[in-house]
Amino acid sequence: MTLHNDHSYIAGTYARYPVVLSHGRGCEVWDDAGQRYLDFTSGIGVNSLGWAHPLWQQAVSEQAGRLQHTSNLFYSAPMATLAKTLCQSTGMQKVFFANSGAEANEGAIKLARKYARDRYGDQRPTIITLLQSFHGRTISTLAATGQAHFHQHFHPFTPCFEHLPANDMDALCARVSRGDVSAILVELVQGEGGLTVLSSEYVQGVQALCRAHDILLMVDEVQTGIGRTGRLLASQHYDLQPDVITLAKGLGGGLPIGAVLMGQRCAQTLGVGDHGSTFGGNPVCCAGALAVLNALDEPTLAHVRSMGERLQAGLATLPGVHDISGLGLMIGFCVQGMTPAQVVHKAMQQGLLLLTAKHKVRLLPALVVNATQVDEALTVLENVLTPS
Ligand SMILES: *Cc1c(COP(=O)(O)O)cnc(C)c1O
Repeated sequence: MTLHNDHSYIAGTYARYPVVLSHGRGCEVWDDAGQRYLDFTSGIGVNSLGWAHPLWQQAVSEQAGRLQHTSNLFYSAPMATLAKTLCQSTGMQKVFFANSGAEANEGAIKLARKYARDRYGDQRPTIITLLQSFHGRTISTLAATGQAHFHQHFHPFTPCFEHLPANDMDALCARVSRGDVSAILVELVQGEGGLTVLSSEYVQGVQALCRAHDILLMVDEVQTGIGRTGRLLASQHYDLQPDVITLAKGLGGGLPIGAVLMGQRCAQTLGVGDHGSTFGGNPVCCAGALAVLNALDEPTLAHVRSMGERLQAGLATLPGVHDISGLGLMIGFCVQGMTPAQVVHKAMQQGLLLLTAKHKVRLLPALVVNATQVDEALTVLENVLTPS
């Protein structure tokens, strides 16, 4: 019935797996026929604390019972507390709340435009992003996305986005020297684009270039943020202090919330009336996000790093696995002789849910995944990959 209704009435934008998920606990989820799966997708890096974490569930349901939405015409305690928690744990100064990754990146783009116009008039329209990046599905964030196949049907795009190769400092210096760049927007580990990890040499070079030319360094941490890489932010692996950080996916632990974090240089750029969002900072979503942040103490982040290492070490021993990349619990790998879609399909038949990212199989388990579950996933993958 669900499949029938979906096919009949939902816009055909998604290729879904033939599974109707029904309920979950931790890293396990069951479909409507009672089949149990080990989940290494976490709703594409969204369910940070797994399915139905008791503290998250309690925070969300208590807030829903008290006040579900206020509009931004009023002050709201969960939003203010979340903003303070985010700033104090990241060294950033102000937060704008949105509802998704794309909307957070739209906010970052508007911020970059205004920052540059305030100082340089119309001299700096260009925003640089990287090839193989992914920044969202709106017209401007698609323009920012450095993958040609996203650009097929939707011209005309927002102008003045340019894509440069990742880890190529010479290309970036040459382009910046033309003097018209307002911001550089990067993912430190490219999520959708195939789990490319930026080198620290490159990232330090980008930061120095941005400082020297008053260009905003904007890091899209929509996928890498909120503990995913084993630090609260991937920026912390690089000892980076970006001017703008965007968050979404894992922030709400399963509820829609995005955030634009602003550093000292641009914290005052947006004023009254410059930006807004009806649902932005919704109290139920903020309560969920606070429960997530409260759970991500240092031992939990150390757990993420340790489970990531266990996974990578185990993957390296599996037949046909090569080009393992990623950080923390954001891992990709290639398989000799199999497409990522084939691996995902076979693993699902054996009760393990996985993701793809371009040419790679991608693993994004909940941050609470334990060693037994990591080992179970590796055993299923060994069965899938062993030639029969
Ligand atoms: C998923 C993702 C987005 C888009 O987020 P939505 O919530 O789907 O709009 C943007 N940037 C990165 C790095 C992402 O992984």
